[in-house]
Amino acid sequence: MSTGTPFWPTPPDRYPGRLPERADVLVIGGGITGVSLMHHLGRAGIDAVLVERDNLASGASGRNAGFLLAGVADCYAEAVRIFGRPRARDIWTMTEENHIEEIAAVRGHEIGYRRTGSIVLASGPREAEQLAESAELMTEDGFECAWDGSRLTNPGDGEVTPSLLVAAFARQAAPGSIREGVAVTAIEKANGDVLVHMGDEECRAGCVILATNAYTPQLLPQVPIQPRRAQMLASAHEAARLCDQPTYSHFGYRYWRQLPTGEVLIGGWRDTAFEVEVGYDERPTPEIQGHLESHLRQLGADREITHRWAGTMGFTESGLPLIGPVDGLPNVYLCAGYNGHGMGFAFMGAKQLVDSL
Ligand SMILES: Cc1cc2nc3c(=O)[nH]c(=O)nc-3n(C[C@H](O)[C@H](O)[C@H](O)COP(=O)(O)OP(=O)(O)OC[C@H]3O[C@@H](n4cnc5c(N)ncnc54)[C@H](O)[C@@H]3O)c2cc1C
Repeated sequence: MSTGTPFWPTPPDRYPGRLPERADVLVIGGGITGVSLMHHLGRAGIDAVLVERDNLASGASGRNAGFLLAGVADCYAEAVRIFGRPRARDIWTMTEENHIEEIAAVRGHEIGYRRTGSIVLASGPREAEQLAESAELMTEDGFECAWDGSRLTNPGDGEVTPSLLVAAFARQAAPGSIREGVAVTAIEKANGDVLVHMGDEECRAGCVILATNAYTPQLLPQVPIQPRRAQMLASAHEAARLCDQPTYSHFGYRYWRQLPTGEVLIGGWRDTAFEVEVGYDERPTPEIQGHLESHLRQLGADREITHRWAGTMGFTESGLPLIGPVDGLPNVYLCAGYNGHGMGFAFMGAKQLVDSL
């Protein structure tokens, strides 16, 4: 059994490189946001270099559940209460577009994509009430869904192998434009340019985009993104089909899926340890893993557990991503803070930022 290493394969290609001395645009971070930015920058004819301190998808993008869901973690009815109806409608529309355009952009690459739809199970009467209301509002607003009294089905949702999605985008980038093993240590303004440091090495960039999600405050402590942890486990191949669609429950705090090859992946339960599930430690804890394991058995899975891991997500005060300039640092931009739903937001978030540049 592997503890600390995620179930998903590391992207197969390696991109060794150094910090460039100059760059028109320097993207920092090689997760789904960074590679999406490279895609949109490339299409806009803008030369860019992406630097990643470890390997691609070593952050949350290679550690997540791979659900491609519309919307935010809250259900539609809650989102309407929090953001107002027009904004909620826009968020769902944007995330539906994210799904379709992200998948279309990597057509022909093997990324484990299936458009299975997703299920949200009511954990009790309060969640059932919210989901019933969500179904009504979503139908009125033109979003396909079905409510049967205990589960909300969203037929447009899907699932991917997240690390392979990142790898597919990376393969499309210009040769030499992605560089792994480059850990940025500081960023400062410099006469209209931006100076980016990696220890003694230095890059003068016309523009810098931070695709560092939860890790952003390690470089810029003033950015209001909170690092919050999430844990998962994976079982060995189960012969029985235990669940056909990515499933979500307990207001988004519990989630599981079964791969076509039989492995069951379960994550969540951070609501049982909010105070512990913060920061950057990637070691799983016995408490949360105990909850995941007991749910695995309740689902009927009896094979051994092969992987246990944790990852860090970036949370924002508003519950929405931060996409735009960084205050006080001219020519430095941010595309981060997905509140645990980056696979559903990052591609269109990156497009929005590149369009605005
Ligand atoms: C357990 C778990 C389950 C999740 N499940 C889902 C899900 O099913 N669906 C969904 O939509 N979202 C899910 N999420 C959230 C999702 O994974 C993230 O929102 C998304 O991956 C963020 O992508 P990113 O590229 O912005 O950040 P990351 O993938 O975290 O990438 C940031 C990268 O920046 C690099 N970096 C940081 N600092 C520096 C530096 N100084 N110099 C160079 N490089 C640097 C890091 O090494 C990292 O690779 C989950 C998250 C976790 C942890």
